[in-house]
Order: sequence, then structure tokens, then C-alpha cells
Amino acid sequence: MERFWEVLQTRAILFDGAMGTELLRAGLPQGACPELWNVDRPDAVREIHRSYFAAGSDAVLTNSFGGNWVKLAAHGLEGRCYELNFAAARLAVSAKRAGGYAGGSMGPTGKFLKPQGEYEERDFEEAFAVQAEALSAGQVDFLLVETMYDLREALCALRAARRVSRLPAFATMTYNRTPRGFFTLMGNSVRQCVQELEAGGAAALGANCTLDSAEMVELVAAIKKETRLPVLVQPNAGQPVLEAGDAVSYSQNVEDFVRHVPALIASGANIVGGCCGTTPDYIRRMAGIVKPS
Ligand SMILES: [Zn+2]
Repeated sequence: MERFWEVLQTRAILFDGAMGTELLRAGLPQGACPELWNVDRPDAVREIHRSYFAAGSDAVLTNSFGGNWVKLAAHGLEGRCYELNFAAARLAVSAKRAGGYAGGSMGPTGKFLKPQGEYEERDFEEAFAVQAEALSAGQVDFLLVETMYDLREALCALRAARRVSRLPAFATMTYNRTPRGFFTLMGNSVRQCVQELEAGGAAALGANCTLDSAEMVELVAAIKKETRLPVLVQPNAGQPVLEAGDAVSYSQNVEDFVRHVPALIASGANIVGGCCGTTPDYIRRMAGIVKPS
């Protein structure tokens, strides 16, 4: 990772775009467990990683977003947590090109901590610890706690990652825009998230999902004001639009998405990529901006 931090001093680092929507395009049935494809359809997953590296990504993220065992339990797969995450790591690592990186994705449980939900912090921490251990054993280069809507849960994941792994751990929250500023679903402010994630040992932090690339510009500036750590941003390609036959498209096309990338970087983003609805096409166009040849 030494070279990663060096490059970051000279230009923005480019992550990948969406995994979930690409898996659906590759034929993953709606409602099926995406992580199961790490074992059942490894070639399809590896191909998505390769398509992002070919598009210019410096780093790709493993197909393990829902790989903590609380989330896997929804599919009856909690007993396969280690196996599915280890396989996810091996696939991303096997797709790496020279100078490329693989990051271990750790998304939310989809459940709530007490008193809103039935879980204790130690439950979440244990669920994330198994995942972080498997991703690290599979030799990813860093871990990314992402799309967190509850700061307490993000801190559980970060603690777990730091406890079982020596890899750098990054963290992104997902925020809604309100008249009073940006807040997570659980009401955490930007300042609170940045301060506590930083204190929790995050090596880079930022935001992803929910907001499009235009809306993220203001959010990145708000995050940058609170931290000296590298800021990471992965906007959605706008909002999902339901089409005929259950298909979903996204409201922000490539042109409109990439138009705001220079402003994201000018606002302080050090690592950029895409979330829901972005594809290798979006990343190819971002590469032209981030690292013009
Ligand atoms: Zn998203």
C-alpha cells in the first residue's frame, strides 16, 4: 500500500463502480445472495473486476458487501461467512493488474442495534470480525467499511477490522441531504461521523451511495472541512428508476455523472469511484479526468 499513498499525493485514486447492478446484468436473480456467486459463478464475478481494471480503476472492491453473517442469515448462509468472504478476496486479487489494488467491502447488516433493533454492539462486531478476518486471509490490500447508515454500526465494523487485521481500514457513510445539512438515516451529522471514525482509526473516510455526483460536491466539502485524512467518495448514478419488467435504470447518465467529477476533486475528494448504477463506462470516463494520459 506504500505506492497507494504516494500516488494519492499526486492525483486522485480511482476506485470501481457498482458491483450489485453489474451482477444483476450478468444474470443474478433479484433477491438472490450476491456473495454466493463468489463460489457458484466465480468467472462472472472475476469478469466484473477485470472490466473495472480495464476501464482504468486503480482499485476494485470485493463482492462481499452483504458478507457479514447477520446479513447472510437472511439467505440461510450465515454458516458460510468465512468461505464466501475468502472466495470474494481471492477473486478480486486474481483479477488485479500490475499496480492495482483489491479492497475488502464490508457493507451494513441491514439490521438495527438496540433499542431500535434486537442486536447488541458485540453481535455486530463479531459478525464483522469473521468477515474482516476472511477478507484479510484472502489477501486484499485494504478493508472498506461502506454505505453505513448508523455510525454505531460503522464503529463496530471498524473495531472488528482493526482487531483482526493489520490492513488499513477505510470507512464511508451514506447521507441524506436535509435543509439542516447532511445526516445519516440514524441522524448522525458529518462532524460526528468524521470525528468518531477518525478516532476509531479509519485511514481514509467519506461518503457513498444515496446521493448523485452533483449532490456529493457539497458533502465532500463538508467532510473535508472536518478532517485531514484522505476523503473517499462514491456517488450513485442518480436515483433508481423502475422500468417495465422489474428492470431498474438510474437517472444520472454517464455525461451528467462525470460532469461533476472535477468539482468533486476540487472540493477535496482524494479517492473517487461510483456506487449504484455506475458501470465500467462511467469509470472509463472518470479515468480520463483523474489520470489523463
Ligand atoms: Zn449505492
